[in-house]
Amino acid sequence: MTDFHTKYVDRGHGRSLWLFSETARDYELLESLPAVQGADAHMRWHPLLREWVCHASTRQGRTFLPDAADCPLCPAVKGGKLTDMPATDYEIAIFTNRFSALSAEAGTPPELGVETAPGIGFCDVVCYSADHHSSFATIGVDRISLLVAAIGHRWDTLMQDERVQYVLPFENRGREIGVTLDHPHGQIYALSHIPALIAREADSFVHSNPLGDIVAHINPALILAQNECGIVMVPEWGRYPFETWVVPHRQMASPAEFTADERVQFAALMHDAVSRLDAVHGMPMPYTLGWHTAPRGMQDTFHFYCAFRPLRRSADKLKYLASVEQITGTFLVDIPPEQAAELLAGKAKLNV
Ligand SMILES: [Zn+2]
Repeated sequence: MTDFHTKYVDRGHGRSLWLFSETARDYELLESLPAVQGADAHMRWHPLLREWVCHASTRQGRTFLPDAADCPLCPAVKGGKLTDMPATDYEIAIFTNRFSALSAEAGTPPELGVETAPGIGFCDVVCYSADHHSSFATIGVDRISLLVAAIGHRWDTLMQDERVQYVLPFENRGREIGVTLDHPHGQIYALSHIPALIAREADSFVHSNPLGDIVAHINPALILAQNECGIVMVPEWGRYPFETWVVPHRQMASPAEFTADERVQFAALMHDAVSRLDAVHGMPMPYTLGWHTAPRGMQDTFHFYCAFRPLRRSADKLKYLASVEQITGTFLVDIPPEQAAELLAGKAKLNV
């Protein structure tokens, strides 16, 4: 793939639709469901942890595990029920979440005993494919490459809004993790603040590039795949069973900086990573996937990477974040990363 094509549709009321394709194409757009107003969304300050908490009650009403026939992310059908998706066909679609926790037009927050702020921001849905039954692991390297381009493009556009301080593209995969729609999709949250954890992460890059240094000198046994663009690796400090990172060799703020050639190579690494995760238990791995991009002001130093954080430690056991993890932030890990790397590399089998 040498380049990609975009089509933008302003759907009114601050709602946008971006369609991405490998070659130029036309779209047929039908009516879709209106947004569910999230006027009450706002931020509340946690006085002890000194970080923002987002309160958004409209999300309670969001669609929960509909049948495939009622999927709101499948292509629109003429004469069919209205859904979230206006396009009758698409390759990659990024559009404003109908149940946004945040809004560009957020109202005045309530006056409380703690500091509050308007819930300003953007929440997008990222559809990977028109095929309801596909997944990140099956859409193929070309489509992942288009996804990398689409996420980079959207990141760039969102960061042009001065109110946006941080953009997180992510995927929650699997019902085990609380996914409410089976259709293959991710999301993008654009926040008007830099979350405390992300600020801490970004601070690590101010005087040096610890991630770049680690990748340059990593134990080869922890490398699962590599090419000219980057590597797939099991981090020694992993907090989740089979945690897997995909890291470009060169420092960049976001996937918007990839060349067309690098995008294809990075996509091949992402495909390799998810394929290994699905193979390790012989079933789709539930995970969170974070596209760690630079917060505002850190674009020149932050080293973009993707992290898969799996939640399944064996075929019949899930990893739960319980008291120690939730209360202290200290993770207890059952599978050493060195062993996870052997299993993901296919050099050993899990005996649990
Ligand atoms: Zn669907």
